[in-house]
Amino acid sequence: MNHIRNFSIIAHIDHGKSTLADRLIQLCGMVSEREYKDQMLDNMDLERERGITIKSQTICLPYHGQDGQDYELNLVDTPGHVDFSYEVSRALSSCEGALLLIDAAQGIEAQTLANLYLAMENDLVIVPVINKIDLPSAEPDRIAGQIEHDLGLEAAGIQFCSAKTGEGVPELLEAIVKYLPPPKGDPEKALEALIFDASYDPYRGTVISVRIMNGTLKTGDTIIFMSNGATYRVEELGHFRLRREPSARLTAGEVGYVVAGVKTVSDTRPGDTITLKDNPAAAPLPGFREMQQVVFSSLYPVTTDEYEDLGSALEKLKLNDAALVFQKDSSAALGFGFRCGFLGLLHLEVVQERLEREFDISLILTVPSVKYLVHLQNQSVLEVDNPSYFPDPASIARIEEPYIRATIHIPERYMGAVMTLCLERRGENTRYHYPMPGRIEFSCELPLAEVIYDFYDRLKSVTQGYGSFDYELLDYRTSDLVKVDILVNGEQVDALSQLVHRSRARERGLAACERLKEEIPRQMFKIAIQAAIGGTIIARETISALRKDVTAKCYGGDISRKRKLLEKQKAGKKRMKTVGNVDIPQRAFLAVLKSD
Ligand code: GDP
Ligand code: MG
Repeated sequence: MNHIRNFSIIAHIDHGKSTLADRLIQLCGMVSEREYKDQMLDNMDLERERGITIKSQTICLPYHGQDGQDYELNLVDTPGHVDFSYEVSRALSSCEGALLLIDAAQGIEAQTLANLYLAMENDLVIVPVINKIDLPSAEPDRIAGQIEHDLGLEAAGIQFCSAKTGEGVPELLEAIVKYLPPPKGDPEKALEALIFDASYDPYRGTVISVRIMNGTLKTGDTIIFMSNGATYRVEELGHFRLRREPSARLTAGEVGYVVAGVKTVSDTRPGDTITLKDNPAAAPLPGFREMQQVVFSSLYPVTTDEYEDLGSALEKLKLNDAALVFQKDSSAALGFGFRCGFLGLLHLEVVQERLEREFDISLILTVPSVKYLVHLQNQSVLEVDNPSYFPDPASIARIEEPYIRATIHIPERYMGAVMTLCLERRGENTRYHYPMPGRIEFSCELPLAEVIYDFYDRLKSVTQGYGSFDYELLDYRTSDLVKVDILVNGEQVDALSQLVHRSRARERGLAACERLKEEIPRQMFKIAIQAAIGGTIIARETISALRKDVTAKCYGGDISRKRKLLEKQKAGKKRMKTVGNVDIPQRAFLAVLKSD
């Protein structure tokens, strides 16, 4: 076991985690220069474009140390976004150490800290690494000072490198072997294997990533998932190289994979413990909890004949995404669709984009909602995550909504703008301090619903891109909420209803009407757009009718231009939904979410 090191790289987004991982893979001789492909660990297009790691992957690197020993370095990749912090935490608990990667020009950011705290909670040994020392704007000495003073980590252990040029990376490999401890654990004890990830292979089914804490696991063993008692037989197990490499056993301290006839990844739970049926562990490993979906939205196909396709696409996505949950849903305005639960807004966007790109389905999303606890007069409590199912206000005693603690990192000059934004969003208990000169760490308690309402976009815009943001769920608090409905030519569009704090209702209703007015094209008749609470209209906009000769004019001109126009219209049509007699473009549904 002395030759094994299990570690993760933790970093703020864009600080170079994927680049460094690839460089380590290359230096350990896993691939030739020719095979060397940028960012091998991020294998989804979408991830590459957005520069985020959604699905983590693990790789075992063979390393010949300067001491002449052969080592196995298990690099456990972690998702890089706040939506996935529970998954990050589980991945980290399979490791003894972590490289804390910091950009030499940017310094410490919100997710640097959030991830560092997760690593500390899991008792990991931290090796700080300052990356991008090749940049002209790099200030490695200043950042090293920050690490020592603000994070309280020892300066002596700090590594300097450029993942891009490779400078300092051989020294970093030595530091991994030198500073990170080998795993502990007893191969003779009852089996305790931690599930920290799962992915779907079309030929083998679910491939479960495990860290063996104690005991030994062999092919043919009958295993139990301790969270739900499900039993399976191990068909194959082994280590992660660039591909999976089968072996006869996995023992204490090792990281590897298990294939055991598990149908979908959602039958596995990150953080769960696998043990043997014959000789079970006395108790599961600590820290397990069910994944928490906090954002809910209904997905509808733009054309009703794509409903079946949408269903099978969601099934396929779920094979690889344990966090995605969905069930059938229907709407008067939009027909049949699916109500889906997500870990956060980014998770929602990723699912939406994958459905559109990989499955070519045009979607309409309803206004995302959080889960409310509605206490009724008759003492019962309803969980409501869909405004359409909001009960009659007369039957409600009180409503509770989820709150978060937001942590925002900004250069000092944006303090006023960020404070204003947070107060606008019903922020409470604001606090701030200076982790370093010129930088502010600002924190406040906010209703989650106010954060899913375009908060990221606004933060980015008021801080000109310099603000970084992180959050954790706090608790549920009583709030004065009302349901705001949208009517188009007198017909209620159920998919556009939202639950809003009473003090914001008129403003939000008006904003929705204005947005819709911009997005709904003029038609042959006048269109009234209204916002209402119960039967009371609180805002109104009107779209005037189109004059006939305007369309006539469009159809003149040469044939190629005309064809282009028709094609464009057809594409546009694909993204329209008819409510009553009014064509509403898909964009209009999304636009309701945005403020100013
Ligand atoms: P991640 O989000 O942490 O995975 O970051 P990436 O590895 O995707 O890197 C983000 C950007 O920084 C990419 O454009 C990389 O090419 C660049 N980058 C990464 N490491 C270095 C480095 O050492 N020097 C320079 N100049 N750029 C780097
Ligand atoms: Mg990356």
